[in-house]
Amino acid sequence: MKSFPIVILGGGVVAGYAAKEFVAQSGKKGELAIVTAENALPYERPPLSKGFLAGKEEASDIQISDGAFYRKHGIAVFRNCPVRKVDFRRRRLQSASGKVIGFEQLLIATGSSVRRLKVPGTNRSEVFYLRQMKDSQAIRAQIKRGKRAVVIGSGFIGMEVASVLASHGVRTTMVFPDDRVWKRLFTPPVSTFFERQFAGHGITFMKSDKVVALTHKNHGCQIVLASGNQVPTDFVVAGIGVTPTVELFHRTPLDTDGGIKVNKFLETSVPGVWAAGDIANYPDQIFHRRMRVEHWDNAVEQGRVAMRNMMGQLQPFIHVPYFFSDVFDLSYEFWGDANGHDQVVYRGNMNQKQLSVWWLKKQILCAALIMNRPEEERAVAPRWILRRPRLDPKALQNARNLKSLDTTFGRQD
Ligand SMILES: Cc1cc2nc3c(=O)[nH]c(=O)nc-3n(C[C@H](O)[C@H](O)[C@H](O)COP(=O)(O)OP(=O)(O)OC[C@H]3O[C@@H](n4cnc5c(N)ncnc54)[C@H](O)[C@@H]3O)c2cc1C
Repeated sequence: MKSFPIVILGGGVVAGYAAKEFVAQSGKKGELAIVTAENALPYERPPLSKGFLAGKEEASDIQISDGAFYRKHGIAVFRNCPVRKVDFRRRRLQSASGKVIGFEQLLIATGSSVRRLKVPGTNRSEVFYLRQMKDSQAIRAQIKRGKRAVVIGSGFIGMEVASVLASHGVRTTMVFPDDRVWKRLFTPPVSTFFERQFAGHGITFMKSDKVVALTHKNHGCQIVLASGNQVPTDFVVAGIGVTPTVELFHRTPLDTDGGIKVNKFLETSVPGVWAAGDIANYPDQIFHRRMRVEHWDNAVEQGRVAMRNMMGQLQPFIHVPYFFSDVFDLSYEFWGDANGHDQVVYRGNMNQKQLSVWWLKKQILCAALIMNRPEEERAVAPRWILRRPRLDPKALQNARNLKSLDTTFGRQD
């Protein structure tokens, strides 16, 4: 049995950045191992629905670190090694093939698993999901073959995939249960803005509807919707959300309700066992409630903090949640958590494709979405969410220079 002082379970974004941090903190050769179910070194996942899917990037372009990095720093990477059992008492992992790996400290970073469609006919080869590199490669192959696609879901995965498909000449229909795109995050004007952009690229919407079956006739398939409508298609991509990959930990001492529960240092209830990334349910120090964030930046920062803490520093994880997305020629960013807001302020000009949205709760900024706006807006958004100055909504809407508002309205701790 091989044993390591530190083992990372899961070889995704957390693992890639935690390994970099291990090296930055002068970790010694032979003291870190990554165990992953995938047949790849840790890679960036966001390009899977953007440049990689579009064929602009290849596998080597999206690696977080290349093979030479892991060899040089003596970091063992066990690929194709799905773990089936974690023995916290004896501090061991066991893989599906029977391989046993011991650990002194463990960082759990098993990420998320895609939700699958559960209606008749969807177990067919025309239905695709997107989580891993091989999924993106499979959809990429369809882009070359298929002329028509249905994308189910209107969150960021659905929107990004639809934009890549339409950009490659695939006639794309989006089907989703809400009455507007990404209703959970966008305000009505923002949904309208994106819907116009999508319609302008030839994407059609079937809103407030859901798939009840997939049928097959001759060589084609049809999506059957609850409304009775049917949409013929060559292939289907379902982006209907993810769930934290926690099955492995159900009958263990870990609390797996809503992700793996950790404290503010990202340590679980088992000493020396930590969790980070999509899977971690952590007590947020800014919003003062438990959160689980399924975004890249959270995985990067939690991976770094968890590694530093495993190596002896004890730092709380204090970080403004952040997310970015690209559709067509538009890139936007989002900071914070809009839950519980009581007011929304808009800046910019949607007709010129530049806008920012500011969600306030009792005049304190809780979230901001920014697209094509001056750099100072990007700079103040996370700072205000962290420092909580009281903002006058009118001034926020009309001010030419946002930085001036910081001093005008002071700081509220
Ligand atoms: C297509 C796509 C596009 C995205 N785009 C964006 C974006 O634009 N902006 C943004 O902010 N976020 C984006 N995200 C989200 C972001 O990539 C994730 O939040 C991030 O990857 C989470 O990192 P993680 O390390 O927690 O999990 P992951 O990166 O998913 O890694 C989990 C790893 O654990 C492995 N694993 C799971 N179970 C086991 C087991 N039992 N044994 C061994 N290994 C196991 C998996 O195989 C995988 O390698 C995107 C995600 C996807 C899928």
